[in-house]
Amino acid sequence: MANPSSAGDSSILRLLPSLDDLMSTEAAREVAHRSGRTRLKMLARRVMDAMRAELREAISSGVKDTSGYERADLLARLEKDLLASWRVYEMSGTRHVINATGVVIHTNLGRAPLSDKTVAAILREASGYCTLEYDVSEGTRGKRGSYAEELLAELTGAEAALIVNNCAAAAFFILTVFAKGGEVIVSRGELVEIGGDFRVPDVLTQSGSTLSEVGTTNRTKLTDYEKAFNKSTKMILRVHPSNYKIVGFTATPTIAELAAFAHKKKILLYEDAGSGALVDLSEYGLGDEPLIKRSIADGADIVSFSGDKLMGSGQAGLIVGKRSLIEKLRKHPLYRALRVGKLIYAALEQTLRSYARESAVDDIPVLKMLSMPREVVAARTKRFALKLAKERNNAGGLQIALMGGRSVIGGGSAPGVHPQTMLLSLSHENFSASELEKKLRASDPPVIARIENNAVLLDLRTVPEREQNELISVLASL
Ligand SMILES: *Cc1c(COP(=O)(O)O)cnc(C)c1O
Repeated sequence: MANPSSAGDSSILRLLPSLDDLMSTEAAREVAHRSGRTRLKMLARRVMDAMRAELREAISSGVKDTSGYERADLLARLEKDLLASWRVYEMSGTRHVINATGVVIHTNLGRAPLSDKTVAAILREASGYCTLEYDVSEGTRGKRGSYAEELLAELTGAEAALIVNNCAAAAFFILTVFAKGGEVIVSRGELVEIGGDFRVPDVLTQSGSTLSEVGTTNRTKLTDYEKAFNKSTKMILRVHPSNYKIVGFTATPTIAELAAFAHKKKILLYEDAGSGALVDLSEYGLGDEPLIKRSIADGADIVSFSGDKLMGSGQAGLIVGKRSLIEKLRKHPLYRALRVGKLIYAALEQTLRSYARESAVDDIPVLKMLSMPREVVAARTKRFALKLAKERNNAGGLQIALMGGRSVIGGGSAPGVHPQTMLLSLSHENFSASELEKKLRASDPPVIARIENNAVLLDLRTVPEREQNELISVLASL
């Protein structure tokens, strides 16, 4: 024994149930049944270690009397701890949450929610065997993704399209295939970082091309590009700064000007549009987002954007542009590593059909949410508050107030746009705002809210109508 100085020490520790004791409890059987024996052992060891540490702590703080420590009680506590840590483990998987943050394209919460039609299409058309690479009219092998790609080309006015895993993959792919070993000219105002690990200069380095920075943070002129051009230049890259906006004394050449220059010098103009828009969203304050159709019409050779930002579909990198370039990408060995699967094609096809029918703002949740006028959110929020009050039937504790506020577009789109909204402000007699927020996160389904000025705020703009009853039952139980 490491510390034989006190008989009391070891006798408390001796009361600690064995791993085998814990492993034969009802709780352990339940955990093993749901998550397997390997996970059970890992969790059981962890809760045993925690209790051992706690007992040692008690010993070192002078507890000698074992009367407060019954083996049966300790075992019961270990069972409880085991179930609690198993629940935390289970919750760490991919789970549905209610996004009450008011951030429409919330990258941490999975960006664009899919429409009911899209979900139905994934289930019905793509979850089993499907025509991923099969042509039913000919009975022969078909081309993966051709429907979505043709539709995408139609909607953007591009000659052709190709779909890869995400927009970061698209940028890396395009730079690798068309600029490797050469120079790429980029404005200093566009050398941005988009969410942690996507930094434009790093992507360029990875692709094997050399960055040629021109201009300044706020102003870059066409002559800056002209001066930087040399015989190693392969491409001009235009990056939409996305989650970052330079305002004030600013200048940058238009796509048309850059295209004219690039084509005169026989190099490519590539635009990484980030979110990008397939339809003009300026009436919702989103006029700064590049309209893909316009970039193509203005002469960009190749444009990439995300499938799950403003477009409102599944995670994908959409590439549109000149047919010869798209075909070169398709034949490149890297394409095989970056291509998407049947579930994503089914989602993209359904979303693109909504754009083709011109019903995108009605069908696509992201567009529906961000275009929802303040009055509509306010009316829904008032109805919701009444229903919640009725459900709680004057139960004490929770206080609910309505207040004006702002939503956020998110996902690196339109950083300056904050649609007016109405918020539910929650406070509780028995809990602080952060305790309340934590309780909401621990509920089933978890409710994600924000805290401002010591109140928990819920924005129903991002809570679809069909999730409102779920939210009411969570709130009614507080
Ligand atoms: C968001 C963004 C990306 C990364 O897109 P993902 O689809 O998340 O890979 C790349 N470039 C720009 C300009 C962006 O806004």
